[in-house]
Amino acid sequence: MRAAVLDESGELTVRDDWPEPEPKAGEVLVALEKVGICGSDVHFVIDKSSKTSYAPIVLGHEPYGRVAGLGEGVTGVEVGDRVAILPLITCMECDRCLSGKTRLCKQRLCIGADAEGCWADFTTVPARNVVPVPDSLSDTLAAVATDSVATSHHSVATQGRVGPGMRVAVWGTGGLGLSAVGIAKALGAEQVVAVDPREEARDWALLTGADAAYEPEEGFAKITEQGGVDVALEFVGRAETVEKAVRSLDDGGRAVITGVGFEPANAGRIMTFVLRERELVGSYGHEPSDVRRSIELLASGELVLPKVVGDVIPLADVRKGLDRVHTGDTGGSRIVVDIKACADTDQDQVGLN
Ligand SMILES: [Zn+2]
Ligand SMILES: [Zn+2]
Repeated sequence: MRAAVLDESGELTVRDDWPEPEPKAGEVLVALEKVGICGSDVHFVIDKSSKTSYAPIVLGHEPYGRVAGLGEGVTGVEVGDRVAILPLITCMECDRCLSGKTRLCKQRLCIGADAEGCWADFTTVPARNVVPVPDSLSDTLAAVATDSVATSHHSVATQGRVGPGMRVAVWGTGGLGLSAVGIAKALGAEQVVAVDPREEARDWALLTGADAAYEPEEGFAKITEQGGVDVALEFVGRAETVEKAVRSLDDGGRAVITGVGFEPANAGRIMTFVLRERELVGSYGHEPSDVRRSIELLASGELVLPKVVGDVIPLADVRKGLDRVHTGDTGGSRIVVDIKACADTDQDQVGLN
């Protein structure tokens, strides 16, 4: 079968001789159709700031497809069903899994990083990793719901506890933060302010329902002038934005850091934290419930994310797609790979180059 494989030397190539997997007992075979490109994939292939557990490995962990085969003992899904795939394979036995924090499972494997991924014609996953997709949800949105939208949902709903009437600031609205804008509005936030240095990302945020969008200096000034926010969501992973997010909280406010970075950040005086009762929390990945809820909100129309899916490209062009994610030339917060599209005939249709 065809598959985009990261080899031992760090090169990603699309091959047509990769062995087709067969579903073992308890597994489902999925014929993949649409699979997103995540920022983590750029780290594996281009800047090498993170590594897969082994190589050669098929990458891709934002998958949508149709059930193509069932291993022994699998019930509840049928061949032909539309499904999204949960990217984390967890043990469901450790104390973290048993306490509902499967994202922190000590034995977790992420497909396309620690197990075979989905930029391929087929994959096999444990049956509990497939989630049904309602007819009202498009293939591409189902794909991005599995990682990008669900990770934002976890930040906004679980860690941020955003609810009706709240004032929310979203720092960084090009990637995950763009979904966070829409999710905060869907959860009833009264005011959502988007902050991003890129005009395009600010425009996308406004299209997604942000009440205002500013570049960072102006955003910090406007938010603090208006008394601060209840929840600040940081999706950049830089010391400067973490500090601004914390310093622009109202008393009792909460800053949620989802952006990943390596700089030390100064979150302010201890006394300020105490007297103002500030909270600072991290947010990592998501739970299966975040994926299911994201799919429900998108399918019902309560959550509208017009710029989350950007350009759609054929599998043959996935390496070029990674370069485009790296440089920010995406047409939306995610580029999605159309596994079934043929490179030659679909070039014009998908508007490449
Ligand atoms: Zn990802
Ligand atoms: Zn576990």
